[in-house]
Amino acid sequence: MKVIDHLNAAKSTLFSFEILPPLKGKSIQSIYDGIDPLMEFKPKYINVTYHREEYIFKERANGLLEKIAIRKRPGTVGICAAIMNKYHVDAVPHLICGGFSKDETENALIDLQFLGIDNVLALRGDSIKTESAFRPHPEGHAYAVDLIKQVINMNQGNYMTEDYQLEPTNFCIGTAGYPEKHFEAMNMSTDLHYLKQKVEAGAEYIVTQMFFDNKKFFDFVNACKEYGINVPIIPGIKPIKTLAHTTVLPKLFHIDFPEALSKELLKCKSNDEVKRVGIEWGIEQSKELKAMNVPGIHYYTMSNSDEVKAIASEVF
Ligand code: FAD
Repeated sequence: MKVIDHLNAAKSTLFSFEILPPLKGKSIQSIYDGIDPLMEFKPKYINVTYHREEYIFKERANGLLEKIAIRKRPGTVGICAAIMNKYHVDAVPHLICGGFSKDETENALIDLQFLGIDNVLALRGDSIKTESAFRPHPEGHAYAVDLIKQVINMNQGNYMTEDYQLEPTNFCIGTAGYPEKHFEAMNMSTDLHYLKQKVEAGAEYIVTQMFFDNKKFFDFVNACKEYGINVPIIPGIKPIKTLAHTTVLPKLFHIDFPEALSKELLKCKSNDEVKRVGIEWGIEQSKELKAMNVPGIHYYTMSNSDEVKAIASEVF
């Protein structure tokens, strides 16, 4: 079933979460271990993130450096199929532009359709670690909007491959939004302009980047409405759980911690103390969002469900 149909049918705020494919070498059980504790909150769908290859340089016997691509985590297609098979909930694979040609994207979508997966979250992806800015695949897409257009084309039966006749796909497409602005955007206004383009191209709902200040989310929702963006907007919530998060999250995700939260975090001397603050903050945030009747709350678990379970137990 499509995420948009779940959202439309819901009588109250939906609980959803996303998991990271495990590092290579681990088994599917590690995925189940992250999902099992959260099933009591009856998620209608589970997202699976996608992680690009990384490049390392290896010195050869002749002294020259060789660039080698390494993929630390398996792809999402098999994981999504396993989740749907085991839990009978919908899986939402994240599909990114980076590293993919349009042909490869088409093939991935054909595989997803074959497996009965009706949903994708269409994203551009970030630059790889060794590049200073995002570089699209030479035969791929530069922006998420172009990826959305490709999926919509397939939904209309227009494939890249003209050699054989294929049935139209029927994907529901989600897209990303940024309550604190995407870090590359000139300003919020241009970011909303491009967000609207993604919705006009066919994205049916928006999931936001994590944020810790609900006011920023509510302002974002209002700004979207003023801009004529009228699809459901699902807030993304991440529990802070380590001392390292207090510096890494603002840097990586270009977000601010509100004053009240940073004051509490400054008092913390250990990861356990941070975890406690993170859970309490996550509960407060979630309760307020739910009271405001947001369509869903989407939790970033990073495949560790303890903190999300502690929050969800108080909220759902
Ligand atoms: P876009 O919508 O393409 O926007 C990128 C930037 O370009 C923005 O600044 C925008 O304003 C601008 N822009 C957009 N369209 C145009 C245009 N036509 N012309 C000029 N400028 C334009 N990354 C992963 O690698 N894997 C994941 O699984 C993943 N999951 C995510 C899930 C969520 C909910 C979110 C919020 C992010 C996720 N990301 C993931 C990170 C995401 O890939 C990055 O934030 C990326 O930098 C931007 O992706 P986007 O889809 O928002 O890009």
